[in-house]
Amino acid sequence: MLNEFKSKSNLIWLGALALLLVLSLVDLTFLSSCSGIEQGAAKQEAVQQDAEGQGEKVTSTAESGSTDEDAEETGKQSKSAAADGIDYLVLVNKTHELDPDWENTVKLVETTNKRGSTVTVESTALTAFEELQKALDAEGVVIDLNSCYRSRAKQQELVDQFTQEYGSDYVEKYVAKAGHSEHETGLALDVIPIVNGVEMLTNDEMLAQKDLWKVVHATMPKYGFILRYLPNQESITGYEYEPWHLRYVGTPDAQKISDSGLTLEEYLGEA
Ligand SMILES: [Zn+2]
Repeated sequence: MLNEFKSKSNLIWLGALALLLVLSLVDLTFLSSCSGIEQGAAKQEAVQQDAEGQGEKVTSTAESGSTDEDAEETGKQSKSAAADGIDYLVLVNKTHELDPDWENTVKLVETTNKRGSTVTVESTALTAFEELQKALDAEGVVIDLNSCYRSRAKQQELVDQFTQEYGSDYVEKYVAKAGHSEHETGLALDVIPIVNGVEMLTNDEMLAQKDLWKVVHATMPKYGFILRYLPNQESITGYEYEPWHLRYVGTPDAQKISDSGLTLEEYLGEA
């Protein structure tokens, strides 16, 4: 009787462990799909759920009307408008490192997404996102938070892990160095669409939701968000089109940037 009980409880433990392992791998592949680690890295993951190939590219609907001089000027004006001690227009990319002191200044808050996971976001960005989410709900468009803030230490862990698995040349090419992932700001929000109650988890599934993204991208500037990785701008941003990666910059900059059709780099005169 006791043995039977033991073997049953062992089975339950094994099941729980297997589930945990699968969940952590799914989480990791999703993390790697965006900004921190690009597509190539994720493609080689053993459990490949979330980060399949890019699919076809979507043509930008934004028009690029501003000149470089305009961008520089608006950028300069906006830089002085930082509130709450952080610069919401902070530029983080492969060549611009986030100030290591950022994590001591930024106000991070935790929230629970629709599937019950804890997600960490910069506080003003989270309030804005919740308002955006409500506005989208009213239009029948449902999105959920997925990967948001990750610390510099967490990014370094990913770098180390991928260096061990794939070597430093590979990491150099595909993985953002610690201090160079926009997710470290707390202002970058990866979202997933939920269509008829079903989460769109893979990149292909997400990229296929063109009509949904049109509504999301058109609505979000009013709430302070821009599309950070525009189509066909990887030579400037360093990343291919990612419709799910929203970046909080605040208002009115988000509307200005979105209307201009410029990348954040160009808007800030840092392209
Ligand atoms: Zn992202």
